Amino acid sequence: MEWTNQAGRRIALVEGDITRVAADAVVNAANSGLEGGGGVDGAIHHAGGPEIMRELDGIRRRIGRCPTGAAVATGAGRLPAKYVFHAVGPVYRDGAHGEPELLASCYRKCFELAGERGVKTISFPAISAGIYGYPMAEAAEIALRETVAHLAKPDTAIEKVMFVLFGQRAFEEYEKKLSAIGNRPSASRGPATKS
Ligand code: ADP
Repeated sequence: MEWTNQAGRRIALVEGDITRVAADAVVNAANSGLEGGGGVDGAIHHAGGPEIMRELDGIRRRIGRCPTGAAVATGAGRLPAKYVFHAVGPVYRDGAHGEPELLASCYRKCFELAGERGVKTISFPAISAGIYGYPMAEAAEIALRETVAHLAKPDTAIEKVMFVLFGQRAFEEYEKKLSAIGNRPSASRGPATKS
């Protein structure tokens, strides 16, 4: 499924493995220690090779831990990408401990890193919606809201944002949310229309 805004910038939903999708930047759902782990983090390090962790070792020596809601950039090793942005999503407790703001901050930080590097295409997994327990529907809402807001900025270099979703359920939650955005008068689906 694809959505296009009035400037022709796109959001695409893809079901599959993020390590196999080519993009200028791939976002990883990392942990504060930047030390790798299960889920998408493990898959990215496995597919990208040891170079990514070597770079993270250097970053860790400089900054220590990466705070929740922030992100750091490395090269992408063997992945079909130039960069990996390692974003640290919040662990979900009940939604009343700053989780929505922290999750939104991950997306904003990744768009900032993208802007600094002239990234045109970027792919995201459903940050926090795996081991960290964020309800998928709410995680999708935040991810899409932040993305639509970013793509509305006239100075963004990003042309396409992909959400690469593991499994049908995740894909369907994103699809529902993206369809709802398409129905709002401020956005258009399909080719941009003249007003
Ligand atoms: P977190 O700890 O931030 O919750 P996880 O990696 O556990 O991160 O999960 C985030 C989301 O990524 C989940 O929806 C999970 O199913 C999904 N996921 C796991 N592996 C991959 C992969 N290879 N490509 C895309 N998404 C993945």
